[in-house]
Amino acid sequence: MPHELHVTDPATGERFETVPGTPPDAVDAAVHRAARAQRGWADLAPADRARLLRRFADAVDGHREELARLEVREAGHPVTNARWEAGNVRDLLEYAAGGAERLTGRQIPVPGGVNLTFAEPLGVVAVIAPWNFPMPIAAWGTAPALAAGNAVLLKPAETTPLTALRLAELGLAAGLPEGLFQVLPGAGPVTGAALVEHPGVAKVVFTGSTAVGKQIMATCAASVKRVTLELGGKSPNIVFADADLERAAATAPGAFLDNTGQDCCARTRILVQRPVYDRFLELLEPAVHAFTTGDPADEATMMGPLISAAHRERVRGYVPEDTPAAIRGKAPTGDGFWYPATVLTGVPPDDRRATEEIFGPVAVVLPFDDEDDAVRLANATPYGLAGSLWTRDSARALRMSRAVAAGNLSVNSHSSVRYWTPFGGFKQSGLGRELGPDALAAFTETKNVFISTEH
Ligand code: NAD
Repeated sequence: MPHELHVTDPATGERFETVPGTPPDAVDAAVHRAARAQRGWADLAPADRARLLRRFADAVDGHREELARLEVREAGHPVTNARWEAGNVRDLLEYAAGGAERLTGRQIPVPGGVNLTFAEPLGVVAVIAPWNFPMPIAAWGTAPALAAGNAVLLKPAETTPLTALRLAELGLAAGLPEGLFQVLPGAGPVTGAALVEHPGVAKVVFTGSTAVGKQIMATCAASVKRVTLELGGKSPNIVFADADLERAAATAPGAFLDNTGQDCCARTRILVQRPVYDRFLELLEPAVHAFTTGDPADEATMMGPLISAAHRERVRGYVPEDTPAAIRGKAPTGDGFWYPATVLTGVPPDDRRATEEIFGPVAVVLPFDDEDDAVRLANATPYGLAGSLWTRDSARALRMSRAVAAGNLSVNSHSSVRYWTPFGGFKQSGLGRELGPDALAAFTETKNVFISTEH
């Protein structure tokens, strides 16, 4: 059944583009084309693969402003963020190109022969991406998979296919072989499901909700298909009484309002030690109001709209706009999917607003007594993606870093993502790691060969 995707500007509600979805028979044809391209790609010298990936990176760099503006239009990201995102794609491609040149096997001494290991590419990899960071997350899977000698079929989210389609055009123009990197827009249960079920797809890299991630893992289990999952989060921002309180409060809004809270690493549970709880809230209030919300195309904007009307309804389902709030920012009214920055206090720690991913600009502030209490609260969700610790006591920072069950922690900072360090979730936030020096390994299979020297 042919289907169409309507692309809407979240800042105005205007539908401005329609993209045809990819039906299952076209997915099948794409897998076969990708498999043919992959064989030639894997046979190239690593330096040649690296050269083409660097050309792709240069093409992205040359079209950075265009890509950023497209991201503003289809995802509502503030333009300064969108430029960073396009730059991140370029950086990832360059970093992965270097990895292609360093990927080797080993020779391990054995009696009676020679033992070799090979890092074999997997074949055709499906990358299924969400709408919240359409460009960078597409590149997290795509760049290392290509570098390791695989072909990639990228399925962008329904609401944000345009940047992905443009990236594929740039890759082809930069010299990537035809069919090696294809973008297949479409509905998740149609195009996404066809990719996950296809026997010619060796691995699925999925970033999205925990609910869909579980379904995909179950489907992959049927054929032991390889899978990497980057799922949801409800990350804590833990502020101790001995912290630099001014800095902690000044940076806390960015940690849950960035990308309008549609960030898997958003620090939406702010845990504050009791003696500084009131003071922290006093400092937080002006910082939230300073987080300018409005037209994402404006250079001064820090927070844009939510992605869609449906998503705004989901956020309202947790916190209607007339809910009493400790702090509420200002958002535009009228067309567009606007929702104001909202900070709630007095929420019981086991309330769904304190434990479930709202994926909007909403944080709860909860008091805690001591380290044990902070760890208990921090770990009291099924998630374990990220978290921040604010303290001047370095031994405490280390103790807490070991005790909080999350894949990405930051001390006196909210930084979670660098393309050269590993990223991924504990518990139901995911499976496997992306980025960093080991990312290529997730796209190879180790083969061991023993050659007898007896005669
Ligand atoms: P989603 O799960 O609804 O969709 C993600 C992708 O999966 C989309 O491309 C969608 O079309 C596809 N999909 C949906 N159903 C499918 C199916 N049955 N088979 C195959 N594919 C299917 O998620 P979303 O709403 O687009 O993204 C938001 C979620 O992503 C949040 O939960 C967020 O925390 C998570 N996320 C996680 C990370 C991370 O790195 N851990 C990063 C960004 C976003």
